[in-house]
Amino acid sequence: MEIQFTCPRCGGHDLSVVQEVFKKFLVTEITATDIKDDEGTFVENKGGVVAYQCFHCGFELRDVSDTDSIDDQDEAIGWVMTEQARRIWKEGKNIPINDDDEIDVAWMEFPKGTPREDIWHWIEETFDISIAELEEWYNSEVRKS
Ligand SMILES: [Zn+2]
Repeated sequence: MEIQFTCPRCGGHDLSVVQEVFKKFLVTEITATDIKDDEGTFVENKGGVVAYQCFHCGFELRDVSDTDSIDDQDEAIGWVMTEQARRIWKEGKNIPINDDDEIDVAWMEFPKGTPREDIWHWIEETFDISIAELEEWYNSEVRKS
C-alpha cells in the first residue's frame, strides 16, 4: 500500500517540502524510508529543509508537542504514516463485523470475510504502530468530540 499524506485541515493529498531561501517542492513519493520531490531528488539529499507543509493550504507538520516544525525526513514519514493509520483505524470502526470476528463487507484491499485480527496485524506492520496506541488515540478523540 502506498503511503499517502492527507492534510487534516483541507483534506488535500499533496505534501511539499520547504527549503531555506523559501524554495518549496512538491513531494511526489513517500515510502517507509524515503521522500522524493518533483525533481526526482531524495529530500534527505537536498539539505536545508526547514518544514514539511500541505502543498495546498500550507498546513505544517509539527512534532508531538506541537511546538516545532518537523524538518527531519524520518519524522515526516512517521507523521504521515501515523496520520494515515489513524484515518484507517477511525474508518474501520464503521465496518460491520460478523459473529466470527470477520469483516462483513469488502474494505480497502480486504475481501469480505477477512478476520479482523489479520487486518490489525496488517495495520501494525504497514504503519509501524500498535493497535493499543491507535485505540488510545481513538478514545482520546472520542472524548474530545
Ligand atoms: Zn491542506
